[in-house]
Amino acid sequence: MKQELINAFIERNLKNFEVNSTGWNELIRQMLFEFAVGGWNIEKDIFGKEKYGELRCYTYSEDKELNTIVKNITQKYAALSMETCEICGSEGKKRSVNSWETTLCLSHYLTQKPVIEIDEELNVRSNSKTLLNINDIVKADIEYDLQKLCLYTEEPAYGTEGISFSWQEPNYYLLLKTIPLQVFSPDMQNPVSALFENLEHCEICGHKAVHQRSCLRCHQEPWTESQVFIEDYGEKTNYIKACQMDSFIDEDDYEKYFKYDRSFEKSHDHQILFGHHDLKEYEKLLF
Ligand SMILES: [Zn+2]
Ligand SMILES: [Zn+2]
Repeated sequence: MKQELINAFIERNLKNFEVNSTGWNELIRQMLFEFAVGGWNIEKDIFGKEKYGELRCYTYSEDKELNTIVKNITQKYAALSMETCEICGSEGKKRSVNSWETTLCLSHYLTQKPVIEIDEELNVRSNSKTLLNINDIVKADIEYDLQKLCLYTEEPAYGTEGISFSWQEPNYYLLLKTIPLQVFSPDMQNPVSALFENLEHCEICGHKAVHQRSCLRCHQEPWTESQVFIEDYGEKTNYIKACQMDSFIDEDDYEKYFKYDRSFEKSHDHQILFGHHDLKEYEKLLF
């Protein structure tokens, strides 16, 4: 088949793919090329889209043999798309951004995720956009688990929407700590202040961030002499080591995302319990 005809087929069909950006274009071009050389009638169009961070192409053929080829090709590229950043085309993995599934490289993941910043003038910014000034807050709504916050700079009236923040964003607890207590409803003022007064030291990540048996910074649970823990880890040191190695390996890039979180103090004498040999053994188990 003439290369020129294949190219025309590819460029014409590239437009039939509903994708979020241009990062998968080369992948789609290669897939369409395989369709053309695989026996697909290039007069017929191919359609596809991004769904849950994957490249989906629902094309099929009445011809049994051709349909097997079609299936092989679409499966191959669906798998490749899950390793390719939708924005830039470099190596990526599936991520969740604002509860959307998307495939991104590390740097595009980090630029897509919200990061709360508070400057010296108490301006609250998210990804370099100023949202409000702490001094202007008139009301703060917070959920009972203290994990979601909504701030208002004018009395909430019909049509006035607050700005929401969540514990999944770096510096959320720094923001919570900085907001004047009196803007919370009277029943929530105690739980908010108690949270920061009763924090305990986390032996895993070293932050003073343990609240009600869970670390608000590393999300690990402190060791207890419970049956489940003893069965799984034997003794405390093994448990702390395993958790510390998980953070170090950072498979979900959580630590990289939270690198500049200033919500919690870090202890100066925090002990790292694992060594080279432990890490080597642990990686063998994981990968
Ligand atoms: Zn990228
Ligand atoms: Zn921790």
